[in-house]
Order: sequence, then structure tokens, then C-alpha cells
Amino acid sequence: MKELQDFVRLNRGEIIKKVKKPRIWKEKDLLDGRIVDSFVLILRTSGCRWAHHSGCTMCGYFKETYNAGEREIMRQVEEAMEKYEGEELVKIFTSGSFLDEREIPIRIQKYILRKFEAAEKIIIESRPEFIKNLSLLEDERLEVAMGLESANNKVLEYSINKGFTFEQWMKGAEEVKERGLSLKVYILIKPPFMTEKDAIRDTVESVEKIKDVADTISFNPVAIHGKTMVEYLWRRNLYRPPWLWSVVDVIKQAGKIFRGVVKCDVVAGGKARGAHNCGQCDREFLTAIREFSLSQDYGLFKKLDCSCREEWMDVLEMEEFLRG
Ligand code: SF4
Ligand SMILES: [Zn+2]
Repeated sequence: MKELQDFVRLNRGEIIKKVKKPRIWKEKDLLDGRIVDSFVLILRTSGCRWAHHSGCTMCGYFKETYNAGEREIMRQVEEAMEKYEGEELVKIFTSGSFLDEREIPIRIQKYILRKFEAAEKIIIESRPEFIKNLSLLEDERLEVAMGLESANNKVLEYSINKGFTFEQWMKGAEEVKERGLSLKVYILIKPPFMTEKDAIRDTVESVEKIKDVADTISFNPVAIHGKTMVEYLWRRNLYRPPWLWSVVDVIKQAGKIFRGVVKCDVVAGGKARGAHNCGQCDREFLTAIREFSLSQDYGLFKKLDCSCREEWMDVLEMEEFLRG
């Protein structure tokens, strides 16, 4: 929708923050059922091509990019190599698409992958339009993470402004699988302009539609990033990030229909800008979700309880009622 595309772009105003240093850290993650150390590298590139045109309603990554040329990217890789200690799992993100040759020229993409020769698996992210570039890399260690957010075209267009359809995404996803690579799928929990109940339903329906192509599903509950469309709505009391009750509900429902690995990264969890409950029980919920992402133990959710469950259930009902 043209109006939404324009709004998302114009709402940002002038971007002042320009980050030039790569972000690097290490964290535990799952690799073939084992908990291993992973190395995470966020390269600063020119950023997502779609964000230059318009961008997704919840995405604030455009603030973390700058016009990095080849030499700048190489410098960042050298910096990363000084900290890399042979971790088996490496995640290389760019606040865009690793496979987009305008962000990282193909020759440099190959160079980066070669640099991490000790890694058993390397996770990269890409929008579907750049998946064809996988043919130029020929690296069997790759796991490709693709943001889908929702498998419903109306939600993609009117809530998220994703810039592609489910069918276009699926074509890319199938190509990843045809190349024998594993596929991680990001699904959003609670895009704007939806009731809490609709959001839960949409997320679970999305899982149903991709359950045969995905190896891992990673749920991303919406967090409010600065200068985004969701921040605009949130400031006007027109949006609340999802309840942690909803997040846990989605994970449990996904576990009943999907056989692969389920993860969930709650950004700003327990805060007003992130998924939260009443404040009393948030920490307990966040710990359970974090531990679940490593252990895949659905039993961790059994002990979760709080009086705010009633309030959450009222919200589910009342919003439907008010919508009429
Ligand atoms: S969510 Fe992904 S595709 Fe959307 S604007 Fe951000 S980086 Fe680009
Ligand atoms: Zn509570």
C-alpha cells in the first residue's frame, strides 16, 4: 500500500545515528541438539534495500547502518577475527540481507565465509529476492534465516509493509531447501493494527503454512524501536506490545504442530517497549522462554502462573467485543 510505504519512510525524519563499529558477542545456542558457544557478528553495511525504499512498520535497524564500502566491511571483519576463537556456530547479520550484493559484494561474501573456516555452521539472514545468490557461494555450512513475519498476505501488506508476498517468500524458502541448506524462519508476534487474539491466531496459522519447509522457527514478539511506525502508534496509545502470556501460548501451540526447533527472542522483555505482563511475573516468564529456546522443554511453561492471567483473558475477549 503506497500510503503506508510513504508513511514508514517519512516518519523516520532525519537519521542522526550512524554506527560504524561491528557488534560482536558470544552466546549459547543450539546446534544439532547440542548447546554450544556461538559467535555473533553484526556487520555495519548500507543496510536493508527494502528499508531504503520504505521499510517494515516495526523495524528500526536502519539506524544501525551506514554507507560502508568494501574496505570498511573488510576492516570490520578483521576486527571480528581478532575476537573469534573457533566457535562452532557463527551468526553473521547485517541489519539487512547478507546475500544482497549491494550490501556486501559477492566476492566479499565469499571472503567472509572463508575466514570462518573453523565454523561448523554459519547462519546468515536474507530477504527472498536475494536467495538466488546462494548459487554463487556454494557453502554447505550455511543456515539461511528468512524473515517471513506472517504467512497472511493482508497482514504482510497492511500491518507489516513487508514488501513481498507469502508466495514470493516461499519460492525463496524452497530454493534454500533445494540447495540442501537449513532454513530458519522469523515470525512476528503481534504486528500493529491487530487485536491480541487475532495476532495469536495469525502467528499460529503462519506456523501451519511453513511447518514443512522450516527447520527452525524463531518467534519475534514486537518491540518498539525508535522512529518506527509502531512507535508512532504506541506513543498515541494505539498499540501495546504482546503479553508474555500470548508469547507462551504461541510457543505452546507451535509445539503441537511443528516438529523442528522453536525459539523465541524477547527484545525489551518486561519493559513497556517490549512484550510484558503485569510486571510481577515478567522475569519468571522471560526466564522460562529463554531456557526453553535452548532446552526445547515445553514443561518449563507448566509452572507459570499469575493473577494477571485473568486480565490477559479479558483483553482477548474485550478487544474482539469492541471491534464488533
Ligand atoms: S525487518 Fe528486515 S526486511 Fe524489514 S526493513 Fe527491517 S531489515 Fe528490512
Ligand atoms: Zn503477572
